[in-house]
Amino acid sequence: AEQAGFDAEEVESDLAAAASGPLPVLAVVGRPNVGKSTLVNRILGRREAVVEDRPGVTRDRVTYEAEWAGRRFKVVDTGGWEQDVLGIQASVAAQAEFAVEAADAVVLVVDATVGPTDTDEAVVKLLRRAGKPVVLCANKVDGPSMEAEAAYLWSLGLGEPHPVSALHGRGTGDMLDAVLEALPEAPAQTFGDAPGGPRRIALIGRPNVGKSSLLNKVAGEDRVVVDAVAGTTRDPVDELIELGGVTWRFVDTAGIRRRVHLQDGADYYASLRTAAALEKAEAAVVLIDVTEPISVQDTRIITMAVDAGRALVIAYNKWDTLDEERRFYLEREIEQELVQVRWAPRVNISARTGRHMEKLVPAIETALAGWESRVSTGRLNGFLGELVASHPHPVRGGKQPRILFGTQAGTRPPRFVLFASGFLEAGYRRFIERRLREEFGFEGTPIHLSVRVRE
Ligand code: GDP
Ligand code: GDP
Repeated sequence: AEQAGFDAEEVESDLAAAASGPLPVLAVVGRPNVGKSTLVNRILGRREAVVEDRPGVTRDRVTYEAEWAGRRFKVVDTGGWEQDVLGIQASVAAQAEFAVEAADAVVLVVDATVGPTDTDEAVVKLLRRAGKPVVLCANKVDGPSMEAEAAYLWSLGLGEPHPVSALHGRGTGDMLDAVLEALPEAPAQTFGDAPGGPRRIALIGRPNVGKSSLLNKVAGEDRVVVDAVAGTTRDPVDELIELGGVTWRFVDTAGIRRRVHLQDGADYYASLRTAAALEKAEAAVVLIDVTEPISVQDTRIITMAVDAGRALVIAYNKWDTLDEERRFYLEREIEQELVQVRWAPRVNISARTGRHMEKLVPAIETALAGWESRVSTGRLNGFLGELVASHPHPVRGGKQPRILFGTQAGTRPPRFVLFASGFLEAGYRRFIERRLREEFGFEGTPIHLSVRVRE
């Protein structure tokens, strides 16, 4: 790497980043306008500028990768989701619910210029009951004269308030040090089972697509709530189900059964639950209701699964209702709306009649195999060499960026780092991804492609 003009240390850190397993999750919660998004942006710094190209339908990201003091973790920004619709109390409660379900540690942001409010106190109560470590961020402490205000926040009973100005960066370093102390090295919940233990499946989809019907169908009489099995209690909302001769862990099934019917806020809760289930799962089975047109909500859920980097199976449910006409339009909708996830195995099922239930397990196994597959550096560079020779990057401004070499730095999902002599256009990166899939398969898995450009 050094000879080719790359800084060896940076290359090593890039590869380590790409190779990392699941990261611990930090949730940033708090009332609207306390500065959560500002803080999240501050935490992310410039890391997000790394060129990355992921397939996705729409961008509704809530989870980002961050790094501080050489440690990497995920940050979940719970702000900005339909808070007006929900009302303050409900939206903050929903964030806290997310933090409880999916995060390994929580930053509670409070506006020091306002002081502790009833809402802050309510969320403190929820968080305390959950027993997750909480770091208290006293935000908007823009200068030393404001530090006295921050001291009022001791009254929340969360220990030392960390005075921070998310806007100017003041104090964020000290606060992040405290965050790292609170955050475990590896996530407690994701892939928490011993190697060889049950694989973790999230069954997701918008309300009424048939999630609980499918769960009931596959569980049959043999349903075992994990909670009830001595010694396996890790998460009382998971369920162990035997399918195709293998035991699977369906995560967050309580969320599927306990239906939150909040009129306006239901979407918001549903999104949080989906995000929480994805954090805990290795593979996602996204259900689509074929009786209705594929909606933005459907594509958004698929994007969440892709962005979370999980293996993906798409199950078209209620197939028993399909007539010729609807089938025609459905195929067109799939072609238009889901073209970016053409790589996901597809099963056409009916949770009601049991149609094609036996196809579900092979589809999940295929997706997990793609998710875990690895291409040797030799094979990859052979492939890249041929590709660059036959399809060079277009010349831009008199220059022609070239891929010099590449490596698969990690799996689950496959992560590639390409080293190039110049910036690679998005279209060319997509082309490379497409060719990678044609050559090596990767069925049912997102692929991460990051490009390092020689200075
Ligand atoms: P969120 O709703 O909690 O995500 O809050 P935002 O991050 O959108 O911030 C709300 C407002 O507070 C914006 O106008 C920010 O510029 C402002 N703000 C955020 N952090 C600070 C800070 O540290 N100091 C000051 N003075 N304003 C801030
Ligand atoms: P959830 O909200 O995703 O858990 O959806 P449910 O499992 O509660 O299902 C919503 C509705 O769709 C119920 O009335 C189910 O009976 C119905 N449903 C679920 N799966 C099927 C199916 O395969 N075929 C038909 N015709 N109806 C289904």
